[in-house]
Amino acid sequence: MALRAPTGTTDLLPEQAHAWNSIRTVALATFGLYGYQPIETPVFEQLEVFVRGIGDATDVVGKEMFLTFSQHAVEKIASGEKPSLADTLALRPEQTAGVARAIAQHNLVPPEAATLKLVYAGSMFRHERPQKGRLREFHQIGAECIGSAEPSADAEVIIMLMRFFESLGIPQDAMRLLINSMGDDDCRPAYREQVRAYILAHTTELCDECVRRADTNPLRSFDCKNPKCQEIMTDAPAITDALCPSCAAHYTTVKSLLDDAAITYVEQPCLVRGLDYYTRTVFEVQVVDGLGAQNAIGGGGRYDKLIAEFGGKPTPGLGFAVGFERIVLALQAAGAEGYALPHPQVYIAAVDASTRAMAFSLANRLRDVGIATELDHQSRSLKSQFKQAGRSGALFVVIVGPDEMARGVVTLRNMQSSEEQTVPLDDLVEKVSTTI
Ligand SMILES: [Zn+2]
Ligand SMILES: [Zn+2]
Repeated sequence: MALRAPTGTTDLLPEQAHAWNSIRTVALATFGLYGYQPIETPVFEQLEVFVRGIGDATDVVGKEMFLTFSQHAVEKIASGEKPSLADTLALRPEQTAGVARAIAQHNLVPPEAATLKLVYAGSMFRHERPQKGRLREFHQIGAECIGSAEPSADAEVIIMLMRFFESLGIPQDAMRLLINSMGDDDCRPAYREQVRAYILAHTTELCDECVRRADTNPLRSFDCKNPKCQEIMTDAPAITDALCPSCAAHYTTVKSLLDDAAITYVEQPCLVRGLDYYTRTVFEVQVVDGLGAQNAIGGGGRYDKLIAEFGGKPTPGLGFAVGFERIVLALQAAGAEGYALPHPQVYIAAVDASTRAMAFSLANRLRDVGIATELDHQSRSLKSQFKQAGRSGALFVVIVGPDEMARGVVTLRNMQSSEEQTVPLDDLVEKVSTTI
């Protein structure tokens, strides 16, 4: 049987791979304007990096992660024991945790009054049932801004994210920025109790999962996909009414800095991120597709407790991640041009076998000065080389014929105007470089 890519994965063929590289390049350039530097962390980490504070590896069943067990763990499982967390590796479901682990491990925690700004891009993995738009291997670009608790850091990160999407060609009016504050350790516990009480008062209308969450993580019920639950949760107590004075002041400043930058946003009290380490500002960017459905293309928030969870000194920070696959869909929905593969600027055609070596040599000379050049490697006839040149999108064709070669010249043909001129061999590189 012919081998295929694993279920839920996709090959980025040249056009998609080029789009991924281009989007990553735009991200690095845009984020660079704000002082971000690149970081790469391993594709797999110890499971504990992603699931902290749990008993053993079997507790992560349902977390939808790809796990790998060490030989030692496999032997334990075979003998009926539970493998330890330390014996278990997981493919990263997101990169923030790996970056936080690296920051703590290498002591990159910025000193007082300094910020560390990092950008990453790569594959993430999720072992969920494959469905449309949800892949098991997907691509994300993210940024982490570490060391500042100030609301200006939140506003800067959000502005940078919006500018990035605009630079990619997603029109401003096709996007919707949702923001919220999730409070902090001072005000969230009381709010969580309010939501818990609200859920317990609506058990007959909510799904079993939401009811079960009342005792574990009631705020997750805001994320429930069940339409009935969503409707009920809309009337749940709003966090914005429960913020303590300092969280409320932080949130107000973030909003006024966004107003200053003319960034339009929608306050969405139901927007929560399920992970416990999020504090205060959370945000999400959605695009409206052709069918009117809202699709998130990126989101993030503040996580003032995260670095400390990895043994680093308590350090405030925030970040976001954006999904490549979602961006591509958004660009298509917005009718943006997308990313066409680059084409050769020059095609060198050899009239017969006697001129092939010269064609080969000219191609290399042009590439050496930065001109994308293609030539035939199939000993094709001149006619089919011309066809090939036309298909390649080359702007010029250099025709190398035996008679011309004997006279030390070649023919340079402009593919748009069909105009041809004779150029001395020695002048070709300069002629082409100045014409392109
Ligand atoms: Zn529910
Ligand atoms: Zn608070």
